[in-house]
Amino acid sequence: MILNLTLIPGDGIGPEVMGQAVKVLAKVCDKFGHTLKYETHLAGGAAIKERGTFLPDETLAAARKSDAVLFGAVGDFKYDTLPGDQRPENAILKLRKELGLYANLRPAILFKELADSSPVKKEITGGELDIMMVRELTGGIYFGEKGTKETPMGPAAYDVEIYSTEEIRRIAAAAFEIAAKRKKKVTSVDKANVLNSSRLWRSVVIETAKNYPGIELEHIYVDNAAMQLVRNPGHFDVIVTSNMFGDILSDEAGMIAGSLGMLPSASLGNGKFGLYEPAHGSAPDIAGQNKANPMAMILSAAMMLRYSFGLTREADAVENAVKSVLAGGVRTADIVGAGVKPVSTEEAGNLIGQKI
Ligand code: NAD
Repeated sequence: MILNLTLIPGDGIGPEVMGQAVKVLAKVCDKFGHTLKYETHLAGGAAIKERGTFLPDETLAAARKSDAVLFGAVGDFKYDTLPGDQRPENAILKLRKELGLYANLRPAILFKELADSSPVKKEITGGELDIMMVRELTGGIYFGEKGTKETPMGPAAYDVEIYSTEEIRRIAAAAFEIAAKRKKKVTSVDKANVLNSSRLWRSVVIETAKNYPGIELEHIYVDNAAMQLVRNPGHFDVIVTSNMFGDILSDEAGMIAGSLGMLPSASLGNGKFGLYEPAHGSAPDIAGQNKANPMAMILSAAMMLRYSFGLTREADAVENAVKSVLAGGVRTADIVGAGVKPVSTEEAGNLIGQKI
């Protein structure tokens, strides 16, 4: 198979971790007989510096032409003074919107080798976890009507949570499809006891479930979901929820897995095209020091192999390579225990590559 990719390394540690993911992908292609083709393009602060805009047209055009996009991270404190609509972080929001990527998959995996780096006790996590958070990404309160108005209590501001049946149906369908390949269980998170939009959410999820008779469906209010995630995280397999609830819960679930440096993500739309990126940001505090953990980026590449190319064996090979180096005691600075010497970004990438 020919893998036609657009690479967008971005800012900070983005290029450092991207370099390791490409190295690992090259090994996978060698071993399994595929051809890796890619173009590298600018976004974020790097693009502002070179082209005066956070997302040059050629970056978007290249992304549209490719089978999948690998994205590092964008953002740098030196752009913090720019007006909101000119900041580097807009690059990823615009890419997701322009590319029609409405489903955000954020696995929260606690590898048993890292059980002790979870802030949640081992008796509660069971020492190992694998939760898939499916978050709606292009609708809801982040994109609803916003405004200000005068009220008897003084000036007020509002943001409207709005979902159409089709927006709910397609994200629910995405969650059921994923659940079919996992433990066949979906938990839908809403606030249907209070919100109209959640009541529609729940009814459309129930309707969509009729197309997936083999999948168990349960509903849970978002406040209870936040509690259960730290009380009994093993209860969950696939969680599907709205944009804002997903934003919050995916960070909570992610932290149970230990370090931001371990968390991959995928943003998918209709068809096989997807954008794959680590859940972390550009980490300007450690950029250029060869000490970032490249595993979130490498695991994002594994998700790309699985979801955009249907290459299950290859995706498994990457995930097993990560597990195997962890089992061998290899740790980057963010996950290192007392008395262990951390490896660099490069070394971690090389060691994972060697295990392919
Ligand atoms: P961050 O995720 O960049 O960093 C938070 C902390 O985690 C830092 O201490 C950092 O050193 C550490 N960290 C993150 N990734 C790591 C890795 N792979 N290995 C080791 N340590 C790692 O979040 P932040 O500091 O709040 O934001 C920094 C910049 O990134 C900001 O400009 C922010 O807007 C941007 N950001 C971008 C994205 C994105 O591109 N999708 C996401 C989040 C934040």
